[in-house]
Amino acid sequence: QSIKDFISETIRTIPDFPKEGIQFKDITTLLQDKRALELTSYMLAQPFRHKSVDYVVGLESRGFLFGTNLAQDLNAGFVPVRKPGKLPAKTLSETYALEYGEDQVEIHEDAIFEGAKVIIHDDLIATGGTASAASKLIERLGGVIVGYSFIIELSFLNGRDQLTQNVPVESILIE
Ligand code: IMP
Repeated sequence: QSIKDFISETIRTIPDFPKEGIQFKDITTLLQDKRALELTSYMLAQPFRHKSVDYVVGLESRGFLFGTNLAQDLNAGFVPVRKPGKLPAKTLSETYALEYGEDQVEIHEDAIFEGAKVIIHDDLIATGGTASAASKLIERLGGVIVGYSFIIELSFLNGRDQLTQNVPVESILIE
């Protein structure tokens, strides 16, 4: 059995959460399993091991779970991107469209230095709206996105098309 198959089997799908028609990928069952936890960390870091990275930017909230660990593995710092009103110091914010309505993400304006090499990490990419909004925040601060990192990519939603062009997108599982 491959590592990917093993990791995949520890993730459960919850139908109709948080609303009808959504097949929610629940990674709490992956986190519970000590082998899956370790292997997921290993697989996330693997594609970037020989890259120079200044920061891993983790997206609230499930991007925090592996984000700090990934940062440590890549000898980088960790920066959170959060939902509005959560970060205490001065922030930049970016609004993005949802299927119904809009949402917002924020970053501390002093979170990264100009020219910093950044990896954006989240548990899952669906439409790409969240990771794309985070990309705009990084680029507004003068950061350079050198990679995207996800555990799961829902490829039928074409989220990677929303991301900064010509940057590697590394997803452990592509559905
Ligand atoms: P996007 O902005 O449409 O790409 O949605 C990605 C964001 O929604 C990420 O922060 C995910 O954590 C969350 N998300 C969307 N669908 C799922 C799911 O099925 N399981 C877990 N998180 C999800």
